[in-house]
Amino acid sequence: MSKLGSSDNPLKVAIVGAGPSGFYAADALINSDLKVEVNLIEKLCAPYGLVRTGVAPDHPLIKKSIEKFAVMAEPEEFNYFGNVSVGKDITVDELKETHHAVIITMGAETDRKLGIPGEDLKGSHTATEFVAWYNGHPEYREREFDLSHETAVIIGQGNVAADVARILSKTVDELKCTDISQHALDVLETSKVKNIYVVGRRGPAQGAMTSKELKEFGELQECDTFVDPSEAILNKSSEDELADRKGRAAKKIYELFSGYAEPKSPHKARSFPWTRPYVKPKKCHIQFLRSPVELKGNKKLETVVFEKNALSGEPFKQSARGTGELEELKAGLLFRSIGYRGVALEGVPFHDAWGVIPNDKGRVTEDNENNIVVPQLYTAGWIKRGPSGIIGTNKACANETIEELMKDIEKLNDKKQKLGNKKIHEILASNKVRYINFIEWEVIDKHEVDNGKPKGKPREKFTYTDEMLALLT
Ligand code: NAP
Repeated sequence: MSKLGSSDNPLKVAIVGAGPSGFYAADALINSDLKVEVNLIEKLCAPYGLVRTGVAPDHPLIKKSIEKFAVMAEPEEFNYFGNVSVGKDITVDELKETHHAVIITMGAETDRKLGIPGEDLKGSHTATEFVAWYNGHPEYREREFDLSHETAVIIGQGNVAADVARILSKTVDELKCTDISQHALDVLETSKVKNIYVVGRRGPAQGAMTSKELKEFGELQECDTFVDPSEAILNKSSEDELADRKGRAAKKIYELFSGYAEPKSPHKARSFPWTRPYVKPKKCHIQFLRSPVELKGNKKLETVVFEKNALSGEPFKQSARGTGELEELKAGLLFRSIGYRGVALEGVPFHDAWGVIPNDKGRVTEDNENNIVVPQLYTAGWIKRGPSGIIGTNKACANETIEELMKDIEKLNDKKQKLGNKKIHEILASNKVRYINFIEWEVIDKHEVDNGKPKGKPREKFTYTDEMLALLT
């Protein structure tokens, strides 16, 4: 058989998941020296993963990366199969049978659990489902969020928590020209939420938000942001962290948190333009050193019980320990924003405790201990390394995987002929799956953009798969 990657024998790769890492992996393969065929398979009709269904609507610049990914879809080596659920419509084994390699880039679809009593009470939600709902993800379209409560609590202080807090704090006027889905805007318009608590288990020197997101809390039209000055006081280890070069980003974050503290705080940055008095109708309270230990209520959430924490441990290794002191907060709405989590895919090893596919630089391994490589299987993105980093982080991650794949090229040169996309068409047709190609996606995309124009929005997303398919002949 001719050399793998030659015109007679192109390297055929299936990629599962059309988020940023899927596109970056496809792009790296297409731009390699080899002749390739790349088949990108996506569960939804729409590509772009969390750039479309995760990035906050009021962050349009981040969403602009979609344009870059659309260009990556132009080469003839690139094939798109949207509306195809791997594991249901086609199996991983079938993809292995028909391709030299399969790369799993399906991100982290679910969320971590707090593991406390009452977590599943009505009114207690994950941030991931709220984010997917306001971003028009078809699987979350029918979720209901009761915003008739005055107090909402967000657990966690990462950028997703910041996004959720902003969406709850902003006025309809601040959101109506974004690509937020209309159904969400309609519900937000009736919102009675006016007290938002963003609660972290550790202190202001350990916040997981980035400075841009934190600054935005000071730019809200109708919402003032507070930090209790007593909570802006640092312990010795935290002071050491901020004094260290490694703590430079954390220092900036800490200064921003301190800027939201009362004037009597010794750390208050006087130059902040949003200084007192607090007059806006909504209040966002950023609180530290608290962990929820129970959610109480009769069938639905009524009270969040927190335990106050103290930090212990060496600088940069401090963890939160409960002090035994409890505190209650009346609230009917809560979002757990403590990180995304990957889900297992049949036919692919999975490390359940970490929520990732075990791998060695992107080569899938049987488990995390022995590094025994599973032939033909690779991974990239959040399902490879866990849910952290910005969109661009996935480029380096995908490139690393493709470099390893290229080193395996001899081993991947199977004696059997790989039929690639021809066989995918056949399998999907026999399973009666209405899959879409990229040109069809572009038709849907154009309709969305056109539908947004009269409203001054970049697009009005279709939120039901049937609506999208109905546009195609
Ligand atoms: P994250 O950054 O990992 O933050 C998770 C937060 O949850 C942290 O504050 C963490 O506290 C807390 N937490 C974890 N387990 C907890 C528990 N059992 N009890 C209480 N608190 C707990 O996760 P994320 O906000 O989901 O974001 C995921 C990634 O996407 C991040 O890399 C983020 O920067 C990125 N992202 C970026 C943007 C943007 O660029 N605008 C927007 C959204 C997301 P500890 O620090 O104590 O663990």
